[in-house]
Amino acid sequence: MFQRDQRSDSRYEPPPTKMQDQVSLPARGPVPARLYQGSLEDTRRRPLRDLRISVTDRCNFRCTYCMPKEVFGKDFQFLERGQLLSFGEIHRMVRVFRDHGVEKIRITGGEPLVRRKLERLIEMLAYWDDLDLTLTTNGSLLVLKARDLKNAGLKRITVSLDSLDDSVFKAMNDVDFPVAKVLEGIDQAAAVGLTPIKINMVVKRGVNDHSVLEMARLFRARGHILRFIEFMDVGATNGWKMEHVVPSRELVQIIGREWPIEPAQPNYEGEVAQRWRYRDGSGEVGFISSVTQAFCATCTRARLSAEGQLYTCLFADKGTDFRGLLRSGASDDDISRLLSRVWRARTDRYSEIRTAETARTRKVEMSYIGG
Ligand code: SAM
Ligand code: SF4
Ligand code: SF4
Repeated sequence: MFQRDQRSDSRYEPPPTKMQDQVSLPARGPVPARLYQGSLEDTRRRPLRDLRISVTDRCNFRCTYCMPKEVFGKDFQFLERGQLLSFGEIHRMVRVFRDHGVEKIRITGGEPLVRRKLERLIEMLAYWDDLDLTLTTNGSLLVLKARDLKNAGLKRITVSLDSLDDSVFKAMNDVDFPVAKVLEGIDQAAAVGLTPIKINMVVKRGVNDHSVLEMARLFRARGHILRFIEFMDVGATNGWKMEHVVPSRELVQIIGREWPIEPAQPNYEGEVAQRWRYRDGSGEVGFISSVTQAFCATCTRARLSAEGQLYTCLFADKGTDFRGLLRSGASDDDISRLLSRVWRARTDRYSEIRTAETARTRKVEMSYIGG
């Protein structure tokens, strides 16, 4: 997993080739009948509803909990351009996933906005107006990209930000990136209407837990939805320990003491964040308790890596290759058949069985399959 083809520039990708850009949108009108369609259920009767698509394994940050520099340093071999699924290939995969009940797509990475011309992919996917299409970003390039994304048809966005304290944030992103620039990006996203904006904050005890109230105060005032994420043992490189996890129930108390909050109904079954609303009517806050309150029982998510490996769990150690199929002249029915086989065989419930022991096992890196 770690040794990939040599490449000198670890941060940015070369522009896409002409061929990768030449993807025509599907024609409107009747779609040819397909043999393999219909919603899928896994062995625990969980349907397939969400797809997270990583468009790159590269990132311009080195968050210590995700891409620690000791592992993702200068010599780390990221994917080559030709190894990435082209936008046309991603579009085709989405078409097949939709046939099997996928309603929601999250574009992620690595940092998705370092992939050139990402707005072109957004435009292709926004073609389906009933698709809930969103994107998670570290916000560093949002000032430049927000308007193009909006014009391409993206409706809303999630921005990750772990602290308003510059020294803490810079230490966590480990590339000296200032808070102010992320805030500018968030303002730009709001100005162009990429709303509602969600803000993801990974809380690590002893590192940024003192920033929790300050973050809540700011984003309450701005009308954005702050979501606290429990620090997870993703990948095998982030030195996870249970004592670093700040359980959501503790955060609920901290927030609730300052501003009374009450639980709100989930927007849909299987929603990852538990929603709480401020009782004074000033919006809501979310808690993603992946460690202390596992939600595997309602997990309807699949993840497609930038090179076309499909993972049925964030904590999986291996995926299923779809790129080979896509590039070997296979039909949509062939792709459907493989997808059905993989989803129907799915047994994953890692967070329900996590122990200090499993936390040390080798798993796919989050920057590779996306959060
Ligand atoms: N680069 C983009 C970003 O940071 O928003 C998208 C990819 S990132 C892997 C997706 C989400 O995963 C981010 O909100 C990030 O904070 C979160 N994340 C990464 N590592 C994590 C960890 N060990 N525990 C919990 N969340 C994590
Ligand atoms: Fe990059 Fe996002 Fe991982 Fe941070 S969390 S290193 S921004 S992919
Ligand atoms: Fe889903 Fe795996 Fe997370 Fe459980 S551990 S909620 S199965 S991704």
